[in-house]
Amino acid sequence: MPAYEDSDFGTEAAPQLQQQKSNGQQGTPSSFGQSLPVPGDQQNQQGGFNSIEVPATRNSIAQVDGYMHQLSLSPSMKDRRGSRNSFGASLPIPRSKRQSRLSSVHYADDGKPARPGMPPIQPTRDILASQVQSFESEKVKKAKNMAFVFDIDGVLVHGDRLIPQGQRALEILNGDNELGIKIPHIFLTNGSGKPEQARIDQLSKIVRNPIHMDQFIQSHTPMRALAEYYNTVLVVGGEGYKCREVAEQYGFKDIVVPNDIVAWDPTIAPYRVFTEEERKTSRPRDFSKINIEAIMVFSDSRDYATDMQIIMDLLRSENGRLGTMAEDPVSSRIPIYFSQGDMLCPTEHWTPRMSQGTFRIGLEAMYKALSGVDLERVVYGKPELATYKYADEVITSWMEQLHGEEKLPENVYMVGDNPASDIVGGNMYGWNTCLVRTGVFQGGDNDENNPASFGVFPNVLDAVQTALKKELGEDFRFEWSDANVNPVLSGGKDSSAIE
Ligand SMILES: [Mg+2]
Repeated sequence: MPAYEDSDFGTEAAPQLQQQKSNGQQGTPSSFGQSLPVPGDQQNQQGGFNSIEVPATRNSIAQVDGYMHQLSLSPSMKDRRGSRNSFGASLPIPRSKRQSRLSSVHYADDGKPARPGMPPIQPTRDILASQVQSFESEKVKKAKNMAFVFDIDGVLVHGDRLIPQGQRALEILNGDNELGIKIPHIFLTNGSGKPEQARIDQLSKIVRNPIHMDQFIQSHTPMRALAEYYNTVLVVGGEGYKCREVAEQYGFKDIVVPNDIVAWDPTIAPYRVFTEEERKTSRPRDFSKINIEAIMVFSDSRDYATDMQIIMDLLRSENGRLGTMAEDPVSSRIPIYFSQGDMLCPTEHWTPRMSQGTFRIGLEAMYKALSGVDLERVVYGKPELATYKYADEVITSWMEQLHGEEKLPENVYMVGDNPASDIVGGNMYGWNTCLVRTGVFQGGDNDENNPASFGVFPNVLDAVQTALKKELGEDFRFEWSDANVNPVLSGGKDSSAIE
């Protein structure tokens, strides 16, 4: 697998989906009736709301039906638009990635600002920069009214190799431009399976530019919001126990992984060879006495047979209790969430390998075959609406950190290499979309099914420069003439990483 796993390569998006059920019913796992329970607003201890409800993809008829008879269907924007969202159902995303530095300032008794458990606040160079720039020329105003969203693999890197134009594009946005201003940009990937910080450390080294946690969204990042709603969850996918670690960081309270269940009852997975090391590192309990409240597929399954068996056992159980079989397969079914829906993922193999989307289609088919009813499920990641709504939250919060203004820029440019996820999602969300030729897309003037609205570019640098010229003028210069005075660059190129 590539060191920088970004599994949106070769995505074959779903063919036309079927009618959507939109009953908008909400409830707890024990109280819902004919539909998947999607949590309602829950007030946090401070009296605020930590999450936002977003209409979710919730097909009352399993997606598998389309695949069984029309395997050759290719996705088109029209199909996707008709299929993506079932309005009336909703999916929570975090209100913002984290409290912003400005809003997290609490004043202690001595009047000095402090954050519990964290070092004292210092004014960042970024905020100073915004003050220096307060003359607010027309150009600065325009520069503050735009933002970029980058896909990663095929745009900035290939696996763990830099695409050279990616480094230069980020330098320009990090302040090496005639205004010496930072232009907000975030990273939106369907990659998964590692904590955010580990991915960022790896990526920022490759692109030789600083990247902050607050700029980064991978497929399961918005699933952080689900931690508020469920106590005991099954987390599936990823290498070893990395996804358990991710879920812990997201605040999930009681996390079960398939190995814990196999260690408790090896007969549940008859073909699994369970190593001594796996036994030692797992956390078996008596799962016949525990209700698992939801299933979260965070990343690609490393053992389809075991994971599918356990997921199927849980979906068919009475309210997530292993060892039981529900009399009514729908009313007592626990919900299942997937962090993304890509069918295929690039690897060293000559043709892309199956990803979460195909795993899900398999589960839907098995569930239908065994229970006779369709499986409802929810999916995050590009091109699902929840992920784009969450990107708005992240851009807004990043704007506050860069410029001290908590607002969403009007002109957002998505740069991606995959028409079926990056471009279709960006187009539907009203972003300007730029398709680059350094990854998946190798077609003609534009993609036929999902044409990029802002155009097709040889690489990310061309896309960024063209967008900057459109917003800031044809004569806009892509370098800062006096680095000694530049308030952003004079402090070093890591200024965005200040804590
Ligand atoms: Mg890509």
